[in-house]
Amino acid sequence: MSDLSPGDDALELARLIISIDSVSPSLVPGAPGEGRIAAVIAERLEGAGFVVDLVPAPEDAQRVSVVAVHAGSQPGPTVVFNGHLDTVGVEGMVDPLNPRIADGKLYGRGASDMKSGLAGLIVAAERLAAADHPGAVVFTGVADEEDASVGAAAVLRHLADRGVTADVCLIAEPTWLDRVSAHRGYAVVEVTLQGTAAHSSQPGLAVDAIRALDALLQEVERADDELHRRPAHPLLDHGSFTTTVVRAGSAPFTIAADATLVIERRILPGERAENALIEVQEMLEAVAAKTPGLRTSARLTHQREAWEADEQGPAARFADVLAMELSRAGAAPAAVGAPYWMESALWQAAGIPTVVCGPAGGGLHAAEEWVDVDQLRRFPEAVIAATRDALSTRPAPGTS
Ligand SMILES: [Zn+2]
Repeated sequence: MSDLSPGDDALELARLIISIDSVSPSLVPGAPGEGRIAAVIAERLEGAGFVVDLVPAPEDAQRVSVVAVHAGSQPGPTVVFNGHLDTVGVEGMVDPLNPRIADGKLYGRGASDMKSGLAGLIVAAERLAAADHPGAVVFTGVADEEDASVGAAAVLRHLADRGVTADVCLIAEPTWLDRVSAHRGYAVVEVTLQGTAAHSSQPGLAVDAIRALDALLQEVERADDELHRRPAHPLLDHGSFTTTVVRAGSAPFTIAADATLVIERRILPGERAENALIEVQEMLEAVAAKTPGLRTSARLTHQREAWEADEQGPAARFADVLAMELSRAGAAPAAVGAPYWMESALWQAAGIPTVVCGPAGGGLHAAEEWVDVDQLRRFPEAVIAATRDALSTRPAPGTS
């Protein structure tokens, strides 16, 4: 193991893994994906005494995730570290795979999202494994987080097949070391409106799909307004309805026979993503009632649940200790909600309470991505302390 401090070790490792191209092939066709970065991490954790599996996604064997387990000398709790190996594309970036440091910022694709978080988790896992500990430390690096989460699904199946249950999962997504305690979910509904075409000089013969479209857009706005009148979630504000795609019409003198819309719904904890389809179907009924002869269809194309952290139990304690350690190291973590979806919902749905915290900077998914080097350096030591605390906490009788 390195003589460096955990923080400096994580900085070195972040530079190494930023230099490995792991752009997602589902976002950029032909991009290399996770194979090489997974192999490098697997080798490193094997060297640190972990039992390592490379887990291909059943949908695509090229999309590889890493699962590394270090069992302690006595039974005890299990702590999972999780991060994603893939990044978005590098279009428009200057030297995205050649990490450089300037003014306390480490630049490169994935510097913030989320190779610095990964590096911190890996270094923390190694240091924990190097000393005697009860329970188990599990590192998971997943493929395809930026698109369809086939890696997380494969890893959760892999763990379930091996009977691995965990008491807490730390996801090191870029949170500026804040403690993200909730995120919204979403659903996407694709709608088609089928009318009847006619020459525009004879509108009486047509069932005008564009008029129906207009009525539907108003229904979506009304539904969005209604969501904003409901009480706000303390961290996540409101749910929403947004029309994100509209297509209709074919020619200047033809009344449109059909229209397609994509309607996106953000949901709050406590709501179910699939209910968005029912809500959209109700809007369609209202539109169809005003448009004789109109046929409509709606289909749910994406759905992801919202997530809210447990306020009690091992994950809450882990988050408290992590925040305390980060404060001692000079950070000032706050409890915040994330505007976007994360895989925390999948872990929690699998019965593993989740904490989300990691180093960040700026330019996520943008042309100049960087991580704050101080945050990166502070992170691993706080993770080690919070994990030692979690591993040494005996569960109360009758709980697991
Ligand atoms: Zn991410």
